[in-house]
Amino acid sequence: MSDAIPSGEYSMSPDWRDSLPRRRGRIAFDEPLAPYTWLRVGGPADVLFLPADEADLLEFLRHLHPTIPVTVLGVGSNILVRDGGVEGVVIRLGKPFAAIRAMDHHRLYSGASALDSQLSKAAAEAGLAGMEFFTGVPGTIGGALVMNAGCYGAETKDVLLEAYAITRQGERVILSVQDMGYSYRRSQITHEHELIFTGALFQGVTDDPADIFDRMAAITARREAAQPIREKTGGSTFKNPQGHSAWKLVDAAGWRGKLFGGAMFSPQHANFLINTGEASAADLEALGETVRGDVAAQLGVQLDWEIKRIGRP
Ligand SMILES: Cc1cc2nc3c(=O)[nH]c(=O)nc-3n(C[C@H](O)[C@H](O)[C@H](O)COP(=O)(O)OP(=O)(O)OC[C@H]3O[C@@H](n4cnc5c(N)ncnc54)[C@H](O)[C@@H]3O)c2cc1C
Repeated sequence: MSDAIPSGEYSMSPDWRDSLPRRRGRIAFDEPLAPYTWLRVGGPADVLFLPADEADLLEFLRHLHPTIPVTVLGVGSNILVRDGGVEGVVIRLGKPFAAIRAMDHHRLYSGASALDSQLSKAAAEAGLAGMEFFTGVPGTIGGALVMNAGCYGAETKDVLLEAYAITRQGERVILSVQDMGYSYRRSQITHEHELIFTGALFQGVTDDPADIFDRMAAITARREAAQPIREKTGGSTFKNPQGHSAWKLVDAAGWRGKLFGGAMFSPQHANFLINTGEASAADLEALGETVRGDVAAQLGVQLDWEIKRIGRP
């Protein structure tokens, strides 16, 4: 996906932005991306495209020169945009992709730009259990599909039936949950192919809505107690290495609450990287890399980034 697109390897003509395909959606040049992300850092998108609908997105991609990189943004709750901004076209799916619909056989369709919490609420209202965990993830369904988002023992792959995507060439594809190649916070197919998810179908199990809402409230309470959810953060910075908790490693290496420029690992949850106000993307990434190096040197454990880092330094 976006981080699989190597920056700078493409020979784009200097005036490539003058010949973008016709479209009905909105285009913005040099649009600052920081406001579109939770960490509130990073430079502009060369081009930001907000498609009017799926047909608009299909046509745009079919006619977009193949050398132009495409990056998709959800609500930026797991992304660090570097200070130099993002090359090529950044696509953000808005309202036209946010519908949630009840389907037969205890299933729900959700557009990719619906928030996970909206799907969770819709499932509870429909008396469908299994999607409560989505209330604890502040991203979109598109982001959840890519990240196999989850919490407290449940993850996207447990409830996903199939996902709907558009390829970089502008072809529609349907992917089963097996096709997604899921593992912990990872979908193999999104590493191998450039896909723009437009929606997905989820399977629920019938239950009493009141009980479902109670379980969602318990998840919210647990999160509020444990995570800095009102900070400028990107959620879990590192994946939990096999047999370890990333936060315990960051803590044990002495990095909890230490300021580095305006960047810090949260005193409340040591795996949450925070922009305390004035951090640059470079500060945040440098702190993350320093901590990775220190944890490897002191504790002999390799930490891998969960936050997706995109763009030019
Ligand atoms: C306070 C906080 C708490 C969090 N808690 C959790 C948690 O408990 N569990 C958990 O799993 N995560 C958690 N996260 C991380 C984050 O919410 C999830 O990874 C979420 O799924 C990201 O969704 P997003 O829409 O913000 O995606 P973004 O951050 O915008 O993007 C993430 C990746 O998905 C890709 N992407 C997004 N939309 C699409 C699309 N439509 N098509 C193709 N690619 C797309 C992007 O290119 C990028 O590679 C937390 C984050 C924060 C800030």
